[in-house]
Amino acid sequence: MTSPIKPPQEIVSTITKIAPKIYDMTVVSTSEEGSAALISRNAKAGQFVMIRADEEGERIPLTIAQTEAKKRAVRLIFQVVGTSTHKLSLLKPGDQVLNLAGPLGKPSEVVEGKKVLVIGGGVGIAAILPIAGSLYHAGNDVTVVLGARTRDLLILKDEFKPIAHRLVLCTDDGSEGRKGFVTDAMNDLVAGQVDAIPASQALHASRSSKTGPAPSPSPRTVRTTQSGIGPRVLYRSGARAT
Ligand SMILES: Cc1cc2nc3c(=O)[nH]c(=O)nc-3n(C[C@H](O)[C@H](O)[C@H](O)COP(=O)(O)OP(=O)(O)OC[C@H]3O[C@@H](n4cnc5c(N)ncnc54)[C@H](O)[C@@H]3O)c2cc1C
Repeated sequence: MTSPIKPPQEIVSTITKIAPKIYDMTVVSTSEEGSAALISRNAKAGQFVMIRADEEGERIPLTIAQTEAKKRAVRLIFQVVGTSTHKLSLLKPGDQVLNLAGPLGKPSEVVEGKKVLVIGGGVGIAAILPIAGSLYHAGNDVTVVLGARTRDLLILKDEFKPIAHRLVLCTDDGSEGRKGFVTDAMNDLVAGQVDAIPASQALHASRSSKTGPAPSPSPRTVRTTQSGIGPRVLYRSGARAT
């Protein structure tokens, strides 16, 4: 007698705490028909997934930080802020994720042959990793500015080195890189130098004063404060679906 075919499952392959309250998790599918497999084959920079840890959990959006189609793998980086992100943080390698849906959202526009400035703050740094990678591989001259409150929260900086022509680190307290906000670094870099600024909006700036990122500039802020300088703001990534 043949055994029934098992439906695909989404399994946590790795989960690591990379900063206070911030986790780096990879989910893989048990078969090519699984959600992580599908997402890993189709996702573009700037897209997100909806994920639910278990029956009691809510579906929450998380930006796709990286994919690897050969491994049917989707990497997500999240900050614990409430019930559902706390549930996700308790998962261990080998645990099943109940639902994973995606890729969702409009992919980021990827220009070619331009000078671009990519800005990320706090956990929003994860959202700009694939965007900076796409821009770099499309032949742009890429400057990345990363900011956080303090050095422990300055995540993924080594992963930007191979995909940035210049990497500028900022901390509010001066514990790493230059002291001050990403906007200070941007003001110095931007004058007449770039064609586009994809900026990640700080995800939880309004509520996590202890561990959250420094507020990042919105495109409107960039345009207003830099009027006369005139970089073209293409998109903002990582914070909201709308
Ligand atoms: C398109 C998109 C992509 C995202 N990508 C990421 C990502 O890659 N990594 C990541 O860590 N987070 C990301 N987020 C935010 C993430 O979805 C929320 O942090 C998560 O839904 C919170 O769920 P929770 O049940 O843990 O907290 P909840 O219990 O829902 O929330 C706890 C408290 O925080 C408030 N809150 C929840 N989310 C936010 C928010 N974004 N800003 C301000 N206040 C909020 C709630 O109103 C509530 O008061 C993304 C959000 C969107 C819309």
